[in-house]
Amino acid sequence: MSTFESFDLFPTIKKALAQKGYTSPTPIQAQSIPHLMQGSDLLGIAQTGTGKTAAFSLPIIDRMAKSPLKIRPARVRALILTPTRELAAQIEDNIKYYSEGLNLKCAVIFGGVGHRKQIIQMGTGVDILVATPGRLLDLMGDGHVLFDQLEVFVLDEADRMLDMGFIHDVKKVMVKLPKKRQTLLFSATMPKDISTLAASLLKNPKRVEVTPQSTTVERIEQKILFVDRANKPLLLKDILHKNQNKSVLVFTRTKHGANRVVKHLDAAAIKSAAIHGNKSQNAREKALGDFRAQKIQVLVATDIAARGIDVSHVGLVINYDLPDDAKSYVHRIGRTARAGRKGIALSFCDGTEKNLLHDIEKLIQIKIPVQTDHEYPSDGANLQGVSTKTDSSRRFRGRKKSTPKKKRVGQKTNELTR
Ligand code: AMP
Repeated sequence: MSTFESFDLFPTIKKALAQKGYTSPTPIQAQSIPHLMQGSDLLGIAQTGTGKTAAFSLPIIDRMAKSPLKIRPARVRALILTPTRELAAQIEDNIKYYSEGLNLKCAVIFGGVGHRKQIIQMGTGVDILVATPGRLLDLMGDGHVLFDQLEVFVLDEADRMLDMGFIHDVKKVMVKLPKKRQTLLFSATMPKDISTLAASLLKNPKRVEVTPQSTTVERIEQKILFVDRANKPLLLKDILHKNQNKSVLVFTRTKHGANRVVKHLDAAAIKSAAIHGNKSQNAREKALGDFRAQKIQVLVATDIAARGIDVSHVGLVINYDLPDDAKSYVHRIGRTARAGRKGIALSFCDGTEKNLLHDIEKLIQIKIPVQTDHEYPSDGANLQGVSTKTDSSRRFRGRKKSTPKKKRVGQKTNELTR
């Protein structure tokens, strides 16, 4: 199946897709849409970046367009549960785009903002509701969301729900859904808990698996840059200066780390903003909006906040700190190379992060090439080829004295990296 024309989608949807410049379906779309249009349940193993949002949204919109129904107050015809507010807002945006010209009611419910607007929206009932579990449960508890007209349920990013501790909330929502419905579950990985959940949730599902993690990973040019912790801000600045034409997403391990990087970049007149859990919803939306509109070159994010970031022009991802959880590495670098594009991911690794690097390489089953020709190489660069199973931190310390040429940084920078 190579074009959207070959699907029996409602003409208005095809028009919207053409306007958005989608010519051919991505593999997850090509494989899922026909099953979903026939009403099958689906187990989709795919991560963000594969086009899975359209894979589940288009058949839902098609169903609503072809069989319009009078919705009663507080009722929902299709529910999409997703872990983060960014992801929820983004899915709603996409649905609005794909359903342009149709008279569908779509709403989004997530925490961190007032209840009022969401309650008012639900007052008339909606065709499609995109929600995060916590706030949805609040509104359900007060009778603002009812599921007796529900036809389709999508559980998006199920593994992430589990990682973020939302699975209990998800289950509480699930028990309120009618038994007769079409159910879709998407997950980037299939840990045992998720396959058990899938078995309890889905009836004779079609299984569609695209982009095993390595496929996205393989499309991305990855490099490790060994650098002393104190030199990370300088190396970052240097790389950003050399990549002024690129939108760059920088990941830090902590919220404070993200703020410190922004402060440092501000001082270097590089336009950036931070996005993390301590920021208000408005601040997060502004940061994302400015980054999307390319008003700022750099967005500095922590893992949780970055989950839903879908900006197609991210040309470079920089892991300023390596993530504690190797899976986050895959999610992080997947923010570049969106929808089949190529991307670059550079990861800074200081002497304390060697074990994390080892975990990542084990997960992706790729030995990430080391870039030695940068301005602030640490002795770690000499460890290329040394098994990561050895006590590398001792080797770092042992070799330090033998490379006196390394650039040093002043007190000010040290403060920023602490
Ligand atoms: P997703 O995995 O749903 O987050 O989608 C990743 C990106 O791919 C988003 O920017 C979509 O707008 C884009 N996209 C989805 N489907 C297509 C398609 N068929 N052709 C081109 N881009 C697409």
